[in-house]
Amino acid sequence: MNINWFPGHMKKTRELLQKNLKLVDIVYELIDSRIPLSSRNPEIEKIVHNKPRVVIMNKSDLSDPQINKEWIEYFKKQGVNTVLVDAIKNKGISRIISETNDAVKEKQERLLKRGIKNKPVRAMIVGIPNVGKSTLINTLAGKKSAKTGDRPGVTKGKQWIKLKGNIELLDTPGILWPKFEDQEVALKLAFTGAIKDEIMDIETLALKLIEKLLILAPDKIEARYNVSTENKTALQVMDDIALRRGCILKGQEIDYSRVANILLDEFRDGTIGFISLERPKNI
Ligand code: GDP
Repeated sequence: MNINWFPGHMKKTRELLQKNLKLVDIVYELIDSRIPLSSRNPEIEKIVHNKPRVVIMNKSDLSDPQINKEWIEYFKKQGVNTVLVDAIKNKGISRIISETNDAVKEKQERLLKRGIKNKPVRAMIVGIPNVGKSTLINTLAGKKSAKTGDRPGVTKGKQWIKLKGNIELLDTPGILWPKFEDQEVALKLAFTGAIKDEIMDIETLALKLIEKLLILAPDKIEARYNVSTENKTALQVMDDIALRRGCILKGQEIDYSRVANILLDEFRDGTIGFISLERPKNI
């Protein structure tokens, strides 16, 4: 499997992250709501250590609303506060501020007892590539955002964005690496576009996606492409979709590359429907 991470890269990323983590009071762990487990870094607890953390489930416009509720419950049971957002359409964003204030309340009260008032709460966003870190930073920053600039005692060059509720957000996100040794995880990351399509040819990737969707949401495939899925193999369904969409080459051969692109694009942008690829177990 060809995933873009190797030990040298990982070591450098970890070191940079750890430096930045020292500067913040709270960590926003951004994940993809369609794959809350596969889009998490396997060592996140160790990396963040015992700093307050808010899990932010992004891309809520693409995932199944009912399953999202189950995930929020799942994280709550683990004592982790979770917010569901759509970073592009600015949905759920204000909850980030209220969760942050809750999470740092005790610390702020301790400071107040020592006479320290209104100390800004500093936060940073961390997450694997493509979960929407930059998008969320831009959304949180908004148009009117003021950069606070360098302050004495702060590593030179760090920029902080002032948010509501006396929160300051580091303007560069921390990049985490995914759990890349697991084939199932890699596939889900590829389906959602979190890792490049090169892990396998896109025809095979699309075929695997159909296999998954025949289990999770056959009704959505049927409705979108006007095909029947009953007692059909993934390949038969792919052929039927190709025929419906006119993905045919000269000599009546199926244009697998075109149908694969259509399927992957329409899954990734939510055209096939709200689909979550993972569901919490044992709730
Ligand atoms: P980063 O690598 O974590 O910084 O991710 P980006 O902010 O570059 O986002 C990766 C892709 O996901 C981009 O195409 C974004 O437009 C898209 N994206 C980010 N947030 C959302 C969201 O809430 N919903 C949807 N549908 N797409 C999003």
